[in-house]
Amino acid sequence: AAKRAGGNSMSVFEAHMDSDALYTLSLQSDLRHAVERGELQLYYQPKIDGHEGRIHGVEALVRWNHPQRGLLSPGVFIPLAERFGLIGAIGNWVIEEACRQMRDWAEVGVRMRVAINLSAYQLREPDLVERIERALQRERVEPSCLLCEITESVAMEDIQATQTAFEGLARIGVFLSIDDFGTGYSSLSYLRQLPARQLKIDRSFVQDLQSSSDARAVVDAVVRLAHALGLRVVAEGVETAGQRDALVRMGCDEMQGFLFARPMPAAELLDWALGRRAESMADFAPSV
Ligand code: C2E
Ligand code: MG
Ligand code: MG
Ligand code: MG
Repeated sequence: AAKRAGGNSMSVFEAHMDSDALYTLSLQSDLRHAVERGELQLYYQPKIDGHEGRIHGVEALVRWNHPQRGLLSPGVFIPLAERFGLIGAIGNWVIEEACRQMRDWAEVGVRMRVAINLSAYQLREPDLVERIERALQRERVEPSCLLCEITESVAMEDIQATQTAFEGLARIGVFLSIDDFGTGYSSLSYLRQLPARQLKIDRSFVQDLQSSSDARAVVDAVVRLAHALGLRVVAEGVETAGQRDALVRMGCDEMQGFLFARPMPAAELLDWALGRRAESMADFAPSV
């Protein structure tokens, strides 16, 4: 650390930096053992049909039950995992756990489509497709029940790796989705080449729907573009009835957000889904 260059105000600044660095360091060393100690958990957030209100599937979102710090969100530890080479192990755990959970649900008669989020690192792993195929086979889950979400910015980061991974996954029958769309400046011609099924509009546009005519124009254009390319459109981060109504009017196919449900543990999700089924008599078979 710099030596007493700037008197008192400087040392306050340094103390702050040190505690941040220490926090990162201790989390990083704990994260090394999180998988083997069974501290990771998948939460599931439903995707709701814009027209009929039935459940289209769920997105698996990883959480870390830290023994001292409590439940940590992926925004805290996924970037750390990426920086310290731990994302591979976490990503593999997510693949296995999501498939195991689908099998569990199937055993009680619920055929639920599950989406998982893939990192840039996973896209470049040469055995990604094989690993996913093995996990599906082990749990006897149909490949089309699994959907892989890749953010637009990750997809743009390494176009060759993305293309190869997408083609491999599509070949075995897994569905693909472009996440956080609208923030990554991808070209139309590139998007057209990817065998994706779904496009998820970034939450920032949904948030601004009612206050900004620009956001409305973007969402409207994205829905048309996606449909022209044969993709289904999902809006993420839907929090108000006003946003929902605007999205339905624009032809958005599915919605996800706190207005409908927060991400929840598997058992809670099942109760929630069964409660809704009793209400609406809708069925669970994925229809995409
Ligand atoms: P994402 O894939 O775009 O997931 C959506 C995020 O928005 C989730 O945050 C979700 O809890 C949150 N969300 C859902 N509805 C609403 C809403 O109505 N309002 C607001 N304000 N937020 C909403 P979460 O679970 O903290 O995950 C953050 C990001 O971490 C995810 O963004 C995804 O990129 C990443 N992530 C999560 N799980 C995994 C994983 O298993 N592997 C990898 N590589 N990344 C993951
Ligand atoms: Mg996602
Ligand atoms: Mg997203
Ligand atoms: Mg997002």
